[in-house]
Amino acid sequence: MRCPTCGAWSEVKETRLNEASTRRRRACANNHRFNTYEVLPSMLASTRDRQSATRKVKAAVERFKRNTLIVKALLSGSTVTEVAKVHGLTEARIRQVRQTFTDPTNPDTNGIKENPQ
Ligand SMILES: [Zn+2]
Repeated sequence: MRCPTCGAWSEVKETRLNEASTRRRRACANNHRFNTYEVLPSMLASTRDRQSATRKVKAAVERFKRNTLIVKALLSGSTVTEVAKVHGLTEARIRQVRQTFTDPTNPDTNGIKENPQ
C-alpha cells in the first residue's frame, strides 16, 4: 500500500488481530507511519455488525486525524500543556500520543519540546 503522505510504498511493521478486524501498522521508505484496517465482508453479515465496524473505523480515523494534529503542534514548538488544553486531553494522553506517533530515529520527529516544569 502507498503512503498517504508521500506516495512511497509502505511495509507492514506490526499486525494486530482483533475479533472482527486486523490492524496493520505501516511505515513508508520516508518513515511516515500510518495504520490500515482489514475487515472480511463475511464478518459484516448483520446490519448491526456493519454499523459497529463502521463506527469503529470512523472513530479510529478521527483519532488518527486528531493525533496527527497533536504531533504536528508538538513538532512546531507547542508545549504538551498547550496542546492538551487545545484538544481537551490530559498531558499524559498527549505524551502517550507523541510516544506512539513519533520515532526518535526519525529526524523529522526529533526536537519535540518537553513541557518545562
Ligand atoms: Zn511517506
